[in-house]
Amino acid sequence: RFITFEGIDGSGKSTQARLLAERMEDAGQDVVLTREPGGSPGAEEIRSLLVEGDPGRWSPETEILLFTAARRDHVERTIRPALDRGATVICDRFADSTRVYQGAARAELRGTVDTLHALMIGLEPDLTFVLDMDDRRALERGLARGSGEDRFEELGQDFQARARAGFRALSADFTDRCVPIDASGTIAEIAAAIDAALADRAA
Ligand code: C5P
Repeated sequence: RFITFEGIDGSGKSTQARLLAERMEDAGQDVVLTREPGGSPGAEEIRSLLVEGDPGRWSPETEILLFTAARRDHVERTIRPALDRGATVICDRFADSTRVYQGAARAELRGTVDTLHALMIGLEPDLTFVLDMDDRRALERGLARGSGEDRFEELGQDFQARARAGFRALSADFTDRCVPIDASGTIAEIAAAIDAALADRAA
């Protein structure tokens, strides 16, 4: 089973992905926790190209190609082998982030994103938790935590608001696999909402 976490920066995706992986491991499941951009040695190299440098380093089109190249390697080397042996894969961001950031928030290139995805990736998650919270609060959280090394961190409030709207539209588009989660509460409350959604789908 392939589970992804999506949402704006500062929404708590990485924490919740890690905590869910820990709960499943404690329950004796074979779990692979991974992230994008990155998740395989080659894709982590491409991640450095993506997150380091000037904000305007790449055009949106080049960015899509780099994210897609990283994703292809990640799927080939990490995700597909894990799914084939029956493991649960939990991924912090996947193609939905590209649909939202390069497809809607940074540029309007959703058609390009979808065409490349169909051609080079094809894989979709079985279940996607979309963490939603106020974009101002998320930005504060993200900046408080931020390494300052990520060129995307300079994009600011308008961008963060567009991304939030993009993730909400995405949840509405893919209702079969997307579960919106209110991420404004405590870490424990969000984890409980995720467990409730999982139990719901298992029933
Ligand atoms: O989730 P993480 O913080 O590791 O992502 C790194 C940066 O890449 C984030 O600032 C995120 O907004 C950005 N990103 C992006 N387009 C994607 C995936 C991530 O702009 N498709």
